[in-house]
Amino acid sequence: MSKKQVVLVTGAGRGIGKAIVRALASPTRFVYIHYSTSADGASALAEELAREGKEARTVQADLSDPAAAKNMIAEIVDESGQLDILVNNAGLTRDQLTVRMTDEDYDAVIQVNQTAPFILMREAAKIMMRKRWGRIINISSVVGLKGNAGQINYAASKAAVIAMTKSLARELAGRSVTVNSVAPGFIETDMTAVLSEKVRTQYLDTIPMHRLGKPEDVAAIVDFLASEKANYITGQTISVDGGMNL
Ligand code: NAP
Repeated sequence: MSKKQVVLVTGAGRGIGKAIVRALASPTRFVYIHYSTSADGASALAEELAREGKEARTVQADLSDPAAAKNMIAEIVDESGQLDILVNNAGLTRDQLTVRMTDEDYDAVIQVNQTAPFILMREAAKIMMRKRWGRIINISSVVGLKGNAGQINYAASKAAVIAMTKSLARELAGRSVTVNSVAPGFIETDMTAVLSEKVRTQYLDTIPMHRLGKPEDVAAIVDFLASEKANYITGQTISVDGGMNL
């Protein structure tokens, strides 16, 4: 393959991940569009980019399976020989008050939101360290910073993402590999579409800008963190939340 930068965005068949792919895709990059179940969304996105003269291909993995996460990086590196930009975006919620939360719901969220990013970062770091350049961007959440009733599993996983970001940033800083997080607030996607009108109204009251964000708002900061312009920024968590975390 060419000397284009190789990018992997997880959970990119829909939602925020799809917007991140659109922001990162360029004629100088080859983008791997990861999906688990959204095969149609991922294929449509690859076709859209092809029409714009941008190279991409889809890659499937269920990130609740640690072996699948590890194999995905191996497959990409086998094929392209490199991995320059990793965006850990895939995530899920299984909301419930703590006293009613099952072990299964706790574990399911930790597997996809915390363990998979760890494995993907570990495997990607090996490649980026050798190349002495890389970008790792993790999508956390305002919930990882502030906690949230009914989301003890999700909050734990998103706080872990921030702690892992800081730890790996320290390990890789000397190799020009930056590791940062983005903490979205309340963004219009399938994840928030399931919330009741009552809960939406309650959330809106906590947002100083009093409106939801768009996937493109998150994608814009990911695009910046992936660029050369951000080469002296590492270990940070940038909030994109209309002021929720003030
Ligand atoms: P979404 O629309 O619900 O999409 C979730 C994404 O995660 C999908 O692409 C899905 O892939 C992927 N995913 C879920 N389970 C997976 C699994 N087992 N293996 C692999 N991929 C899996 O969510 P979103 O709103 O775009 O969220 C994207 C990220 O932003 C998540 O990390 C989320 O926690 C974070 N975030 C979102 C908000 C918000 O308000 N929306 C706020 C803060 C943080 P498939 O569709 O292919 O199965």
